[in-house]
Parts: sequence; structure tokens; C-alpha cells
Amino acid sequence: MQSTEALATTSPASAATSAATSSPGPTAVPEATLLELTRIAKTFHTDDVETRALSNVELSVGKGEFVSISGPSGSGKSTLLAILGLLDVPSEGEYRIGGENTAKLDSVRRAALRNRSIGFIFQAFNLIGDLSVEENVELPLTYRGMPAGERKRRVAEALDGVSMVHRARHMPAQLSGGQQQRVAVARAIAGDPLILLADEPTGNLDSKNGDAVMELLEQMHAKGATICMVTHNPDYARKATRVVHLFDGRVVEDRRG
Ligand code: ADP
Repeated sequence: MQSTEALATTSPASAATSAATSSPGPTAVPEATLLELTRIAKTFHTDDVETRALSNVELSVGKGEFVSISGPSGSGKSTLLAILGLLDVPSEGEYRIGGENTAKLDSVRRAALRNRSIGFIFQAFNLIGDLSVEENVELPLTYRGMPAGERKRRVAEALDGVSMVHRARHMPAQLSGGQQQRVAVARAIAGDPLILLADEPTGNLDSKNGDAVMELLEQMHAKGATICMVTHNPDYARKATRVVHLFDGRVVEDRRG
């Protein structure tokens, strides 16, 4: 089992090596399990209203799996992704990453794990409007304390990977939606994350740009990244190796293949 500190400094390729060489302790989850949700519930309280967004969710995601998460609006997909990405905490249950209980992490270790091991892609791109394309991609690497030379190299590589090098100095508003999402993908993959979380990454794109973004995700998966992607598009869901369907905050279908 890897500690979250080890995970926080591990790339998909080196994680695969360490998974093959380390042996789990008696209470460890199997080496292949990267994300493990046990009896997760999430309840939101607003004024007098209580909303149960997730109930009794059990989900184990292995290293290198590509999971598509679907379900009607309000079924808890974004809440589930926020918990997986350490952006929110469950009200009940346990969430383990690499065998370590995330509830036991202090805020500094939690932020470090999120920053180093998890890449996010959102439907609305979420680029920072007054930073250039290259500055947007670089920012999470700066938060990580990465030296400038390595940051520049990774930014150039990531932009090359999404064919956006020629727009490096542009501002997000000067780009089309498809181009903005390609930059958001570059930002998510520049840090070589173990886990890639995508919340309807093609939701605001036409089919040509949507297909291009899906192709990038498939490339990341082929390189060893673990991906959890919320999508409404059945064709894109079929690209995943596993389909999880939510209804009313519960997992009602979970199938591989
Ligand atoms: P989905 O992504 O499947 O559309 P969500 O996870 O966004 O579903 O929401 C699940 C339920 O939780 C919905 O009923 C939603 O209104 C509620 N919800 C989500 N976030 C909050 C919040 N911050 N405060 C209150 N209710 C919320």
C-alpha cells in the first residue's frame, strides 16, 4: 500500500512500478484499489431544507480504470466527483485513497494530495480569465512549489499534447470553447496526475471538439491514469472500461466491460 505522501509525489508510471513491487499488509486493500468509498452519504443543509445527495455509496476504483458516471440531473454525480477529488467531505462513511483514510488527513496534506495527485476538468472549463493560456497551465505547478525550469518544460509538453502551443500567449476569452477545454485538459495533465476527474468535460462542446477532448482522455488512460468522468453522452460513456449509474444518490448499476 502507498501512503498518501507517496501518492502525492508519484506519477502514473512510477505508481504502477511500486504497485508491482510492494506487498500489502494484513489490513491493506488490494494493491490494485486506488479509490475506495465505503457507505458514503452526503447531506446538504440549507435553511430548513435537508437534501440527501448521496446514500450508502460503495465504490472501489482500481488503478488505471476509466469509470464513466451517469445518471439524471440531481442524482449526485457532481457531489460524488467533489468527494473523490477532495473538494468536499462526506457526511458519513469512509473515503480511502491508496488505502489511507482521507478523513485523517490534516488540511495541508489534503491540499497537497489534491494538488499533486488529482487533475480536474470541468464542463465550464474554469480557466482564469486574466491569465494567459500558459499561465493557466502553469499555476497548479507553481502551487506545488515546482522549480521554474521544470514548470516551463511541463507546460510546453502539456500544450503540445493538446495542440495548443500556438495559442500559449492568448487569453482564454480569445479562444473558442473547444480550445479552452483543450487548455483545461493541458492544465489537468501537466502535473501528471494519478487520478483525473472530469465533470461533463464535453458538455459545452460541439461533437468535433467533444470527440477531440475524449481522445485526449483516452490517451491519458492508455498512459496509466485513473479516470472518473461524469457524462450524459452514451457514446462517450462507452469509451470507459466501467459504467456507474446513479439514481437518487445511490449506485443502481455498476458494470465493467
Ligand atoms: P448531479 O451532478 O447528478 O446533477 P448534484 O450532485 O449536483 O447532482 O446534486 C445532488 C443533490 O444535492 C441535488 O438535489 C442538489 O440540489 C443537491 N445539492 C448539491 N450541492 C448542494 C449544495 N451545495 N447545497 C445544497 N444542496 C446541494
